[in-house]
Amino acid sequence: MSRIKTAVIGSGIAGSGIAALLARTGDYEVDLYEANGIVGGRFATVMHQGFRLDIGCHMIANGPRGAMGKILDLLGEPEAVRWRHVSMEESIFFFKGTPLHFPSEIDRIGFTQEELGRLMQFFSDTLSIPEKDLPAWDDRSLVDRMEGYLRDPRARTLFGYLSSIYFVVHDDETPVGEWARCSREMMVENLSGGYPIGGTGAIPRAYVEIFERHGGRLHLACPVRRILVEDGRACGIELPDGTRRPYDLVISNAGLKPTVGKLVGRQNYPETFLEKVDGYTHSLAWGVAKVALDEPVIRDTVFVLCMGGDDLNDRMKELEKGHIPDKMDFMMIPVISNLDPSACPSGRQLLVAGGVAGLRSCSTSAEREKWKQAYLRGLEEVFPGIGRHVLWMEYTSPGDIDNLFGKDGCVIGISQKLGQVGANRPPLADPFVRNLYHCSADSGLHGIGGELAADSALRLYALLSGREAP
Ligand SMILES: Cc1cc2nc3c(=O)[nH]c(=O)nc-3n(C[C@H](O)[C@H](O)[C@H](O)COP(=O)(O)OP(=O)(O)OC[C@H]3O[C@@H](n4cnc5c(N)ncnc54)[C@H](O)[C@@H]3O)c2cc1C
Repeated sequence: MSRIKTAVIGSGIAGSGIAALLARTGDYEVDLYEANGIVGGRFATVMHQGFRLDIGCHMIANGPRGAMGKILDLLGEPEAVRWRHVSMEESIFFFKGTPLHFPSEIDRIGFTQEELGRLMQFFSDTLSIPEKDLPAWDDRSLVDRMEGYLRDPRARTLFGYLSSIYFVVHDDETPVGEWARCSREMMVENLSGGYPIGGTGAIPRAYVEIFERHGGRLHLACPVRRILVEDGRACGIELPDGTRRPYDLVISNAGLKPTVGKLVGRQNYPETFLEKVDGYTHSLAWGVAKVALDEPVIRDTVFVLCMGGDDLNDRMKELEKGHIPDKMDFMMIPVISNLDPSACPSGRQLLVAGGVAGLRSCSTSAEREKWKQAYLRGLEEVFPGIGRHVLWMEYTSPGDIDNLFGKDGCVIGISQKLGQVGANRPPLADPFVRNLYHCSADSGLHGIGGELAADSALRLYALLSGREAP
């Protein structure tokens, strides 16, 4: 029987994952096209002056037990990625200058006993909402629910910041249902969050390695210009030099908006669908500071969440608009070389720090320098004296991420905000172009960050193979 000729456009987590899953069945002859010279999209990792740098700033919510690990399980190679598990004890919450372990030392924030009780009640009630009721909770905001429990604005900041880390949206846009689902999986069922040894790029590289072993063909630095459509059916792709290649199936990892608007073309869709696509919004964008130190300054900590004030939403809105603060103090800080010592030369240290930034907040070298100083001042507060040990520092802006991978440099893709979760997620099967599928975080149903993208690959695999999604 002849195999199904398939083009996968984009080698992000979802693109490389689905390419490997299909190639391994033996039923598909798969070409994987990647516009950049490296695989992985937002999960890519590059070398810089002997240090291994992820493009983003990552912690994987469920590590091997999450959707990325499940892809490896299905591929029959669960050990192809090794993970460094991260426990709560190794992580620090830096709340307005007070370092504390969460949740065991939460009382150090200075909540009253009553507020602490309400906070715990909120947490336990929300995490125990029965599974069957969660879809109804997808229409309700986390902030509304919090307000029914909490009085102290600092408690709202704490949970608001957690939701902004999960979904990279504002807390008043965070749906209770999806928040509860993700929190329960991560903090109750799996307890397996971590970081991949070899950097985030180790995951898509593992998928691609398996893909190639099963006969898949990888085309790096090979952007697809157009998806060819004939009689409402995807029938091939076109490359920038005009070369056309016929395919039975086209899978786009480029994202819903770029696929519909640029690769397929709006003329192939009815106005009602275009309005829906235009109406979806992406998650917020982050910038990431990458800091190389001349010696290991940070000893036991591997992960810090820094919250510098109670005015979370106001600060986020200012940052989104392009404001560069004097000191960045809402940031997530994985100490990469404490997670994986092979990330830097021996005797050195590598950490990254990421936080919300406007797409156009770093257009000049002076602005880039301002961002670096803002991060340095913030980091100095968390790790006093760190500034003396900086060998070099790089800043990856949302504009850089947009130039490389598109989608306005957003962190995740089409966000999981109210009105964009559950049945309202974008579809896997394109509703108007037959034989075209969307496979990226945009069309993932559930999960945090890269796991939402991996979820999309798992569901598409289930759809195409007729098997149940794990
Ligand atoms: C700063 C930052 C921090 C993050 N932190 C976390 C975290 O802590 N935990 C977590 O799990 N996730 C995190 N994420 C989110 C996560 O990285 C993304 O959700 C996930 O990687 C998206 O994967 P994807 O498969 O949807 O697509 P992408 O990674 O966007 O990849 C799409 C690929 O398609 C390629 N492409 C696009 N158009 C074409 C074309 N025409 N032809 C060929 N190729 C094309 C692109 O070059 C790209 O490689 C973070 C992201 C960023 C940017």
